[in-house]
Amino acid sequence: LAEQTLGLQPKVTEFLTSKKGLYINGEFVESVSGRTFKTYNPVNGEVLATVSEAIDEDVNKAVNAARKAFDDGPWPKMDAAERGRLLYKLADLIEEHKEELAQLDTLDNGKPITEMRMADIPLTIDMFRYYAGWTTKMTGQTIPVSGHFFNYTRHEPVGVVGQIIPWNFPINMVSWKAAPALAAGCTVVLKPAEQTPLSALYFAKLVEEAGFPKGVVNIITGFGKTAGDALVKHPEVNKIAFTGSTAVGKQIMKEAANTMKRVSLELGGKSPNIILPDADLSNAAPGVFSGIMANQGEICSAGSRVYVQKKHFDHVVSELVSYAKNVKQGNGLDEETEMGPLVSKVQKDRVMNYINIGNDEGAEMLTGGGYSEKGYFVEPTVFTNVNDGMQIAREEIFGPVVVVMPYDSLDEVIERANKSPYGLGAGLWTENLKNAHYAANRLKAGTVWVNCYDALDPASPFGGFKESGFGRDMGSYALDNYTEVKSVWINL
Ligand code: NAD
Repeated sequence: LAEQTLGLQPKVTEFLTSKKGLYINGEFVESVSGRTFKTYNPVNGEVLATVSEAIDEDVNKAVNAARKAFDDGPWPKMDAAERGRLLYKLADLIEEHKEELAQLDTLDNGKPITEMRMADIPLTIDMFRYYAGWTTKMTGQTIPVSGHFFNYTRHEPVGVVGQIIPWNFPINMVSWKAAPALAAGCTVVLKPAEQTPLSALYFAKLVEEAGFPKGVVNIITGFGKTAGDALVKHPEVNKIAFTGSTAVGKQIMKEAANTMKRVSLELGGKSPNIILPDADLSNAAPGVFSGIMANQGEICSAGSRVYVQKKHFDHVVSELVSYAKNVKQGNGLDEETEMGPLVSKVQKDRVMNYINIGNDEGAEMLTGGGYSEKGYFVEPTVFTNVNDGMQIAREEIFGPVVVVMPYDSLDEVIERANKSPYGLGAGLWTENLKNAHYAANRLKAGTVWVNCYDALDPASPFGGFKESGFGRDMGSYALDNYTEVKSVWINL
């Protein structure tokens, strides 16, 4: 179907062809180098738009603008309530322009527009409203110390924050990072992923319209190894908040040590999703399926290791295979589409490589394994005859590929589920309250979902144990990422 027939908004078409600079100090400017790069439509691999490519000098300009706005500008002097009002206004503007943002992410990332409308966009709007409310509620403590002193704490913004985000939830990740940082009073230099820069640039227009002071929010588009690295190395950046691969997270942590930057890292996963013998299978089987296949499997917390108690194994496997065969893949702009293409050729090749590894390792591929020549589609793929030691059971594939394994006892499956360097999410499907709490307490994961999967809310924290990172996005916990605690002593 032609994109016109799929209802592309005129503002989106106009934005795609317009000149898009870097958003630095309240202005859209070209990269100092004049360099640009292209972003591609994953449905057909064709060029979607051209954006500016930030280099070191651009990053330096953006960081200096954020520094100035933090140190001398109106931002730190602004009332907390006024900061909140700006964030509410930004949320309203996002709501007003939600269809443009939804279409831009669908075009850039490939994901179904229905998911954008139902999940990504509402969560983005709610995130800004939730943190707008926090601006006036970040209180310290008065502490009953010994001696004749009055002692209290203040929560102060950490300063200039560099935020580096991935391509799987482009506008949503902007909100997870920018909303709490701005609520805390920090200034921000945010770099979207090079595969999906468009919605962040559109967001910059809304920041401008909302009336944020110059330099408070800066959006730089560019590559990880250049612009991202320059942000991590910059001595005037106080903190890096990163979501992406564990490999890059480790590099960032090492590099950040040189300038003692604070870091929070939301990294990869290989999350277990466990069906207990007493599960309601009519809920569990489809829940487990969408737990891995939603967003084309490109979710850090995807339930990619499914464990099913032996007595239900054959039944659940046949359900998963049947769902996989019936998924409607296509152009994400089509409202009938349930699964879009993967984000890029690199990602398609990466996922296909894992499928080949699975077959070479001796796993049994019950369905899937196909891919499109044009565009970046990969079929939903189900593997059985898998053991915990296989590469496809240990490593993050980040695509629509699931491994399903049987188990006997609850203690056995908890031990196997925990035997992973990752610890992001875990799912449990059971009608037994005691088993649910027993397992939830023992699973080493930042989030445990019982009889649901990937439920999210701005008020509830999200983040990892072990090599899935540290620090939490969302909830009051995310504010800790962006504040320093100061203890004040007054001699009475
Ligand atoms: P990545 O970690 O390389 O990229 C994520 C972000 O980090 C992007 O904005 C990128 O430009 C930036 N970046 C890359 N190298 C950097 C560096 N040296 N310094 C600073 N910033 C840098 O992820 P990817 O290559 O896009 O995807 C590879 C794999 O990462 C995926 O297959 C998946 O396993 C994982 N991933 C995880 C998440 C998540 O949400 N946890 C998101 C995307 C990808």
